[in-house]
Amino acid sequence: MRKPIIAGNWKMFKTVKEAREFASQVKGKAEVDGVEAVICAPYTQLAALVDALQGTSIKVGAQNLHWEESGAYTGEISGPMLQETGVQYVIIGHSERRAYFAETDETVNKKVHAAFKYGLTPIVCVGEKLEEREAGRTKEVCKTQTAGALQGLTAEQAAQVVIAYEPIWAIGTGKSSTAEDANDVISYIRQLVQEQFDAATAEAIRIQYGGSVKPGNIREYMQMSDIDGALVGGASLEPDSYIQLVEGAR
Ligand code: PGA
Repeated sequence: MRKPIIAGNWKMFKTVKEAREFASQVKGKAEVDGVEAVICAPYTQLAALVDALQGTSIKVGAQNLHWEESGAYTGEISGPMLQETGVQYVIIGHSERRAYFAETDETVNKKVHAAFKYGLTPIVCVGEKLEEREAGRTKEVCKTQTAGALQGLTAEQAAQVVIAYEPIWAIGTGKSSTAEDANDVISYIRQLVQEQFDAATAEAIRIQYGGSVKPGNIREYMQMSDIDGALVGGASLEPDSYIQLVEGAR
């Protein structure tokens, strides 16, 4: 049985003070048996969140990392630096990073390998643009991105990856994919994992849906056969909403 995972993606929101306040409000509440709750925050909030959530079941993640251990990469953060803060997850290849920071399937793959090297669980984002969906290319795009991201992993590593299927047209737009459409693409991604690795890996890997998920629609997604939780932006920023999302994934 795959444990559902609700990951908040705070993007470029909140200060350290606000992150601490959020942590104190969700402590003991966004903690539900059988659901993994994660908060992926900007770098400067990570240490404070890890500290504030110590002793709870809520885990902390970053939103990016560089694949090198160290070096002349002004403005970047590496795997060992993240590991030292105590975070357990890292989002890799979010569509905003692919669009605005030139991330490619190749850099995504390097980052996935770097995450494993430093004991971090990658949440790898894949998903099509509106024009790709309209051109009937959704599955083709997801196939290239998924295969690229997982290339060179062992089956054991691939089974630990979390994939977030996020159709780009659904992110921050209020236009979510229907649960059936999301499940169809996610089942397809699971089938791709089976072809690239094996049936046991496909059965174990967790695949989330992301894109305008809210407390009001989380349960529809969770009822689907292949959807193992959600990566949530806007609706993860308010403590009450975050708590309801975690409860809704039970
Ligand atoms: P949204 O963002 O929930 O605000 O649509 C999702 C994401 O970008 O991960």
